[in-house]
Amino acid sequence: MRIDILTLFPEMCREVLSQSVIGRARENGAVEIECTDIRDFTLDKHRRVDDAPYGGTTGMVMQAQPIYDCFEDLCKRLGKRPHFVYMSPQGSLLTQDKVKQLSKLDNIAVLCGHYEGVDQRIIDEIVDEEISVGDYVLTGGELPALILADSISRLVEGVLPNEEAYTNDSLWNGLLEAPQYTRPAEWRGRKVPEVLLSGHHKKIREWKEKMSLTVTAQKRPDLLEKAGVTPQDMEIVQGKK
Ligand code: SAM
Repeated sequence: MRIDILTLFPEMCREVLSQSVIGRARENGAVEIECTDIRDFTLDKHRRVDDAPYGGTTGMVMQAQPIYDCFEDLCKRLGKRPHFVYMSPQGSLLTQDKVKQLSKLDNIAVLCGHYEGVDQRIIDEIVDEEISVGDYVLTGGELPALILADSISRLVEGVLPNEEAYTNDSLWNGLLEAPQYTRPAEWRGRKVPEVLLSGHHKKIREWKEKMSLTVTAQKRPDLLEKAGVTPQDMEIVQGKK
């Protein structure tokens, strides 16, 4: 898997991508993530990459030419055309299912907008899909691109120790994960649930399944229906039947 981030602020992305799990995964070659400075492709002698919007609104809009040339150059370097995503508050909301789908691709390029965004014609001409990280607006697409790169990378073989490291997590099967505890067994009078100390694998698994449903019902009831959990299932799990 290779992810290319096209941005006006490559250093901002590189710093984050050099740390922790993703930093190690890049070092050991499990995933390739590269950042390219769109400004290197401007034909403007003052290295400008943006201009005032037509129609007289405030702010600046990123021009089509540097982005187009940057993407064309990337395609040439890769020898193929990557799936091209524009991070945008107007895109479809990023979900774990979308992340799973994208993690199966070999090459993804991610465009980060800034200021008032990018010229619409670049979206019409070369963008395959627009993805949003939430219903709020940020100053730039760098943080969203990093969220996308991180969420995809952790599903790539060799990034996490094994598949269980992500299939046990919240949202993989549509539900939230059961609460987690670590040592000590008692802290400020709060005890770790007895069953987790029992060593009884079947009972632990049943407790985790029950807690996963209970926590989802409490925090994200909207997920239950999507995951196909019926009110009857909930009653059985909570021991009412
Ligand atoms: N004028 C644009 C609009 O109203 O749709 C918003 C531009 S925003 C200030 C600047 C850039 O930040 C966008 O081009 C996009 O790349 C990024 N961005 C902001 N919010 C985002 C979100 N929720 N998801 C993904 N990208 C976002």
